[in-house]
Amino acid sequence: MVYDALVWSSLHGLVVGDRTVKRAGTVPGVGMVHAPFALLPMSFPESHWQQACELTPIFNELVDRVSLDWKFLQEALSRTKKVDSFTSRLLDIHSKMQEMNKKEEIRLGLHRSDYMLDEQTKLLLQIELNTISSSFPGLSCLVTELHRSLLNHYGKHLGLDSKRIPGNSAVTQFAEALAQAWKEYNNPRALVMFVVQTEERNMYDQHWLSTAMKERYPFESFQRAPMFFPQLYNTHDVTTIRKTLAEIDAEGKLLPDGTLTVGGQPVAVIYFRAGYAPTDYPSESEWRARLIMEQSSAVKCPSISYHLAGTKKIQQELAKPNVLERFLENKDDIAKLRKCFAGLWSLDDSNIIKEAIERPEVFVMKPQREGGGNNIYGDDVRETLLRLQKEGTEEDAAYILMQRIFPNVSPTFLMREGICYKDHAISELGIYGAYLRNKEKVIINDQCGHLMRTKVSSSNEGGVAAGFAVLDSIYLT
Ligand code: ADP
Ligand code: MG
Ligand code: MG
Repeated sequence: MVYDALVWSSLHGLVVGDRTVKRAGTVPGVGMVHAPFALLPMSFPESHWQQACELTPIFNELVDRVSLDWKFLQEALSRTKKVDSFTSRLLDIHSKMQEMNKKEEIRLGLHRSDYMLDEQTKLLLQIELNTISSSFPGLSCLVTELHRSLLNHYGKHLGLDSKRIPGNSAVTQFAEALAQAWKEYNNPRALVMFVVQTEERNMYDQHWLSTAMKERYPFESFQRAPMFFPQLYNTHDVTTIRKTLAEIDAEGKLLPDGTLTVGGQPVAVIYFRAGYAPTDYPSESEWRARLIMEQSSAVKCPSISYHLAGTKKIQQELAKPNVLERFLENKDDIAKLRKCFAGLWSLDDSNIIKEAIERPEVFVMKPQREGGGNNIYGDDVRETLLRLQKEGTEEDAAYILMQRIFPNVSPTFLMREGICYKDHAISELGIYGAYLRNKEKVIINDQCGHLMRTKVSSSNEGGVAAGFAVLDSIYLT
């Protein structure tokens, strides 16, 4: 099975750039290695899976509503702004747009809401909601297909049925949403631009998405698209280009009518797979690029408001009593969201600080960062809190505290660089969501497939790209 799985991954593009090959992050087709994956799908209760899917359109709507409330975003992040220079720069762009009275008529969100199933309480609890650069819509579909293929051959032997692995059309649905946003923009000459990092080992995940905007797919679960948007799939109109922030600064122009051109070509949709981390902005050039894009009429995925609405601080503010009510009317929807909120606190709550110093192992401390590897766990939580107390500065505003979730631990086979490891692991389920509206008209508000990530239970963090986790799929029980 290990051998077959490795062959399948290589033949079907379940690959990433190999970190040992120098050009693997810049030149496609050079230095590829299979993406880290779990050999078998992870069991997951069907009822919790359905619950996660049902939450998606509600979160999509919530992000849109929150994004329109300038004052809420600025106020909730005002203390953070003082101590976190990255969030502060994002807020500056946000304020500028407010001063300009900038209207985003076409709004596109490609989100991923991540959950863990708390073993003791059997509650599905949200880890975070990603509104920028939600990764692996491409590779997650391939892991689903890999697992189905393995179970088709070995399922009888293992007592597993491939039909219990739900379909995963993340890549076609995200491609549909991008293509539909392009159509709403209504300039046939304009392109879709992927904003990328200068080096990207996860480029194939992104290439799957751009390819899905112009081609048909061989796999069953990829084939949703032509039925829903035949007009898009009969033509090959949607061209994508890939640019770094520095290139956009050098080649970008804002025309008087608001059109953004890059290298002389008009841009309809800007899809960010970079720009979420301070390291993406090594100089003023990158910030200029972010600003010019925001000022333009192009559809931004995400806009600065959508980006800010996905910060951990906003997640924590939304979990406070009576805040959801400010944005949503439907009481059932509010109750559903609240049910998946874990304990979340800001650090100006002295009771919680005291508790976290006494029992740091049941908390996670999080800064306003994305991409994995930034959180604080265990004894480091205690030490950091004591240091912040002693210093008495406002640096505490950079963090939030969160209840630590403890999912079920199970033995798993993890595949990394051609080697199969057996270890105890826990999983995190991500559900993709797409939201597209043009003025008052909601064009898409959908659940769009999923991503299961499995990591060794002794590791705190869960990022695949950051090297802590493997890609997985789900086996419904
Ligand atoms: P990022 O935006 O960097 O992905 P996350 O909030 O997703 O930040 O945290 C990174 C990882 O840390 C998660 O994938 C998960 O493995 C772990 N983690 C985060 N919050 C919790 C929590 N409350 N309980 C347990 N693990 C958590
Ligand atoms: Mg994140
Ligand atoms: Mg995360």
